[in-house]
Amino acid sequence: MKLFGLTGGIGMGKSTAAKILSERSLPVADTDLLARQVVEPGQPALEEIRRAFGDAVIAGDGSLRRDTLARIVFSDAVARHKLEAITHPRIRQLWRSQVELWRARQVPVGCVVIPLLFETGAETELDATICVACSTATQQERLRERGWAAEQIRERIAAQFPVEKKITMATFVAWNEGSLAVLAAQLERIVAR
Ligand code: ADP
Repeated sequence: MKLFGLTGGIGMGKSTAAKILSERSLPVADTDLLARQVVEPGQPALEEIRRAFGDAVIAGDGSLRRDTLARIVFSDAVARHKLEAITHPRIRQLWRSQVELWRARQVPVGCVVIPLLFETGAETELDATICVACSTATQQERLRERGWAAEQIRERIAAQFPVEKKITMATFVAWNEGSLAVLAAQLERIVAR
């Protein structure tokens, strides 16, 4: 099986690219979804987060207050690293299990979407990497449409490698500045290779 890792700058189109690939019957594991699973009530990671960050990050119904935790970790790199040490190994374990299932089923090509792919050194487990990128102006516009304030955008971008670095490290780049059809055509060509 050939395993692709898909990454890119925040808001540059990773989820959009993942959707395009799965619509073309390529199995896709999205670590954003896995990241939500590992902090669901009853999961050991949630208890570790409560111990590390206090009861204020847990809502009355026992679920994680994502907004409260995001405010803490995106303004404090030490806190962010503490959170990542709790969640990242568990997320990686989940996508590895998914990949093992694909291998057992003899799936020819699969893709894992990992926002912090290069930051976590995950490329060593992948056959090739794709970076979805666009201009900073388009990125800002897409993130503003998400309802994010300028400070929030700045903090979240600062928590990742600059996109230029991701582009340099990736095997392939999909430039997502135009229409969805242009993005799809690039992805089809990359996967065909
Ligand atoms: P990421 O997963 O990298 O954070 P998304 O795939 O969620 O980024 O894209 C961010 C926003 O930009 C979404 O609202 C998405 O619909 C929009 N978007 C992505 N690619 C395009 C495109 N080629 N044309 C128009 N809108 C796009």
